[in-house]
Amino acid sequence: MSTTVASEANPEFDGFFTHAAAGHVAFPHCRACGRFHWYPMPRCPHCRSIDLAWRRVSGPATVLSFTRVLHPFDPSRAGALPYVVGLVTFADAPGVRLVTNIVGAGLDALRIGDTVTPVFRAETDGHTAVDFKRA
Ligand SMILES: [Zn+2]
Repeated sequence: MSTTVASEANPEFDGFFTHAAAGHVAFPHCRACGRFHWYPMPRCPHCRSIDLAWRRVSGPATVLSFTRVLHPFDPSRAGALPYVVGLVTFADAPGVRLVTNIVGAGLDALRIGDTVTPVFRAETDGHTAVDFKRA
């Protein structure tokens, strides 16, 4: 699993990938009620406003939960086994919970509550994927 989503099929994610290509993590933010939400929606799920904009977050996130994937549920990821899928939160984007890959060294020591930072990876389809690594 990754934050890679073909934007041709999911144009609501364009803002996420535009920011990722620039080396930033961003989420939809409602200018009417001041709250973030994830995933992208045409209306704010909190107040139903359409006055939405993508807002950058500082980057570091906190591991809320994670799992080590040992079985090739997705045949396209069989060569990547084992890998870690995490649920991360952002101090400056309350309410956002992002499912992402957690990559890099030290994953055997990964714990809930650890700080992770974004890693931007160019995909072959031209998009930029966002993974996270231990800080
Ligand atoms: Zn709102």
